[in-house]
Amino acid sequence: MKTSANHVVSISYKLTEQGSDETVELVTGEDPFVFLLGSGNLLEAFERNLTGLEAGQTFDFILTSQEAYGDPDQEAIVKIPVDAFMIDGKFAEDLVVVGQPIRMQDQTGNPLVGMVIERGLEAVTIDFNHPMAGKALHFRGEVISIRQATEEELEHGHVHGPGGHHH
Ligand SMILES: [Zn+2]
Repeated sequence: MKTSANHVVSISYKLTEQGSDETVELVTGEDPFVFLLGSGNLLEAFERNLTGLEAGQTFDFILTSQEAYGDPDQEAIVKIPVDAFMIDGKFAEDLVVVGQPIRMQDQTGNPLVGMVIERGLEAVTIDFNHPMAGKALHFRGEVISIRQATEEELEHGHVHGPGGHHH
């Protein structure tokens, strides 16, 4: 069986930035990444590179930044008044740390994660670009297993059972 659309595929992989040995993400065979191929939930180029493989087969491919998270957008770097980080009249020192991620919400309440770039006297600068924006992604790994998705999984557009949703 070769991976194709409407298969549930389990993989292990290591993600690095192209040209770097530093691990960005490591997914082992004991706790693999399980996904529904062809559901459109993942980066298209990622799915394309994982199509036509057999269980046990290894892969090694690079997604350009354009195929991945695009270029960093200057407009996604925003200055937020320090007032927004006051809790009970005190600046939230432990939440706002330069070089550390911070969890926030957009106007409609959706969770957003940004990176604190600078803490000024009047504003905190936060970068809401994807951490891998502007970078080429190097994936190396192995296909662990492949199975046909169930009709329910296809209807829901996601995987059920081990590694997937439970409901
Ligand atoms: Zn479901």
